[in-house]
Amino acid sequence: MIVMESAKEIDRLLPGFNCGACGYRECYDFALALLTDHVSINKCSVLNQQRFQGKKAAIQKLVYSHQGKSNPEIRGLIDRVKADFYLYPLENEHSCRETLLCFSRVNLTEGTVIRYRPLGCPIIHFARVIVVHHGLPDVWVIGPGKLLNRKDEAIDIGICMVLSFQGTIEGEMPKVGQTVKFLPAHCMMGKVHSGIIVQLENNKTRIDCIDLKVWQHTSDA
Ligand code: SF4
Repeated sequence: MIVMESAKEIDRLLPGFNCGACGYRECYDFALALLTDHVSINKCSVLNQQRFQGKKAAIQKLVYSHQGKSNPEIRGLIDRVKADFYLYPLENEHSCRETLLCFSRVNLTEGTVIRYRPLGCPIIHFARVIVVHHGLPDVWVIGPGKLLNRKDEAIDIGICMVLSFQGTIEGEMPKVGQTVKFLPAHCMMGKVHSGIIVQLENNKTRIDCIDLKVWQHTSDA
């Protein structure tokens, strides 16, 4: 009963288009799924429009309060550092995009599968090159787990620096130029990363100056 009342309250804040873009037939079904199936609010792409930002924040608050989290915390798994938000993939993408700086002189092209270790991370990553701009590849991380049955030959390119992430923000919206701590949804270590917001369009962002050295301030503890 409480769930249905909360769903109705959320339904009143949703765009009401009943367009099905979220994968649910009607906005009410999506409202119910937010409460019962813990689906991401970003599945409603309509809510990402600037004019719905206030309502989106109000819905997120209702969902958190329904889950008993009045002040939801996002923390890293290993060092328990507090993050400002989760970073999810861009719409219809498999993982957040990473822009890499490779030190080996391999000629990378679109579709190439690479094997590398991001500087500061103990885990070997597998990724597929999406595009190469000015010698810097943008990749989707696809492994290691998902790669095991693949026939692709992965090219070993050694250590890489992850320069940037691109994805969608779920949590408190930052400002352009702000230094942020965030948890990429695909991170196998559940490790909080830091960076600087250089692009922000609704909840889509590009974060530069990626670093795994993230300090916890006493106010975060
Ligand atoms: S995508 Fe948003 S507007 Fe469309 S049906 Fe789902 S909740 Fe409603």
